[in-house]
Amino acid sequence: MFLGILAHKAESAGRLLIPVDPRDTSRTCPECGYVDGGNRDGEKFQCLGCGHTDHADRVGAWNVALRAGLVLPNVA
Ligand SMILES: [Zn+2]
Repeated sequence: MFLGILAHKAESAGRLLIPVDPRDTSRTCPECGYVDGGNRDGEKFQCLGCGHTDHADRVGAWNVALRAGLVLPNVA
């Protein structure tokens, strides 16, 4: 219901709504995909799997963008 209303509002404003599952977006490493609550300490994100570091808010936004298909994952 809410997403339907939000999608209609977005469309009327010329925008596209892309729903994503927000679970673990702040605990998932966008570099290697490792998920662990220990990856995050307040504003600091440090992956226990690969050592990637970043601001926790940027990691959350990055993971939301990845899930929406707006950015490509790093492929090593
Ligand atoms: Zn990692």
